[in-house]
Amino acid sequence: MKTKLSGGGRIVPSMLGFADNLLRGEGAGLVALDVDFRFTFWNAAMERITGLGADEVMGRFAIDAFPFLGDQRESLGRALAGETVAAERRPFAIAGRARERVLEGSFTPFTNEQGDAVGVVCRIRDLTEQKLAEEQLGETERRFQNMADAAPVLLWMSEPDGLCTFFNQTWLDFTGRTMEEEWGVGWAAGIHFEDFQKCMDTYFTAFNARRVFEMEYRLRRHDGDYRWILDRGTPRYSPDRTFAGYIGSCVDITDRKRMEGELRKAVRDRDDFLSIASHELRTPLTTLSLEIQSLKRALGKHPKGLPKSDRLERSAAVAENQINRLITLVEELLDVSRLASGRLRVEPTEFDLSELVREVASRLKPSLDAAGCALSLEARARTIGSWDRLRVEQVVANLVSNALKYGPGNPVEMSVTQETECACLRVRDHGIGIAHADQRRIFQRFERAVPLSHYSGFGLGLWIAREIVAAHGGSIDVDSELGRGSTFIVRLPLRAA
Ligand code: ADP
Repeated sequence: MKTKLSGGGRIVPSMLGFADNLLRGEGAGLVALDVDFRFTFWNAAMERITGLGADEVMGRFAIDAFPFLGDQRESLGRALAGETVAAERRPFAIAGRARERVLEGSFTPFTNEQGDAVGVVCRIRDLTEQKLAEEQLGETERRFQNMADAAPVLLWMSEPDGLCTFFNQTWLDFTGRTMEEEWGVGWAAGIHFEDFQKCMDTYFTAFNARRVFEMEYRLRRHDGDYRWILDRGTPRYSPDRTFAGYIGSCVDITDRKRMEGELRKAVRDRDDFLSIASHELRTPLTTLSLEIQSLKRALGKHPKGLPKSDRLERSAAVAENQINRLITLVEELLDVSRLASGRLRVEPTEFDLSELVREVASRLKPSLDAAGCALSLEARARTIGSWDRLRVEQVVANLVSNALKYGPGNPVEMSVTQETECACLRVRDHGIGIAHADQRRIFQRFERAVPLSHYSGFGLGLWIAREIVAAHGGSIDVDSELGRGSTFIVRLPLRAA
């Protein structure tokens, strides 16, 4: 608050008390000196500012009490001559004070009612705390600037109107431009023209909504090369919660993007190769499987002239078994490429899951017998639902095959039950079990929890099973303990999603 002490630029004695009252709000000091510069008035604020009571200064020569006033003599003289003089703001050492005080003062002529000079009135403002706060702020700003310049990322800051007013040294080194060139919207000149519009749209949309944003664009480097930048902007607020603009940080992601591109291509190439290779492998395998089946049939009929040979029959059975295993593996690989290209579709028809599970169990009986696994099945008479028959059969066969692969010589228990709107299949084995830490991972592609040297496999069966079940809107879970067997639980909504 500026206090105007008198219209005529002078103060008369009767106004002193009034002026003191006015200044109290500001906490400003008020002092009156006579023509010899001896104190004739000393208000409470002056006691606080100087630590000296009125009784210690009244009547004393100002320069005796405060030697630093020596160099204010000229200003005091001018005020005595009728001029209002502003003293410069500077630190003054006050005796007995631990720290200097930063004071700002003004000297006003002090006259009697007739206008004769009776002294000088000094108004003193103590700016020590304000100066300190300014210094601290300056220090904070310097520290921020140092940190920002040393940061390995490109930093920028904008104001509430969207214009950028700060770029750190890392940014300026990157673009090879000056702060003046980048200032405001100058920085946008470095954006690749193909990315410009998208970039501006993202920036201003987020800006207007005061939202955090992330955008990728190409920015011209000092050598003329365009580099991919990931820019993340966050709104900033003043201590009183008013919006103060944005602060953003950018990193050069060119190398990452290139590697991502190469990786994507490598994955595409791998999937293409898998698809071609598995198609090529499946054709001769199908033929081989048909041949083995007809050989088995022929052996079963004991062709004339040939003696019955258990050994030949056993060999044919082993060959068929191995061919079936090969077919399953090739099918798994084919499914990988189908799933990768989103070509796995489910075609639901209505059927009885209990019956299907019985069928799979009887089809796999020879393998179960060979592994020494007795299978028990507890199934509802009928569990009718609408699912893709071949795909569900694949899931059931996969779980049973895993049960005997990871638990040979132990019983396998299966059940089909119905929960609300859901059919539930459980396959329980008493095999090696799965550690808790691995139980989520094994449903991912190529993930295995056993060494290849002990158990063959691609680590694809459970992933495919999960994808199939998910395509029906269902779920697959495992409940297991290492060394104590596993139970896989499949839930399928009665009507496929
Ligand atoms: P694969 O059997 O070809 O490795 P899966 O996707 O069918 O692939 O299984 C993934 C992993 O889950 C297996 O490698 C194994 O570590 C674990 N696993 C699956 N089924 C069982 C089970 N019944 N008992 C113990 N571990 C199992």
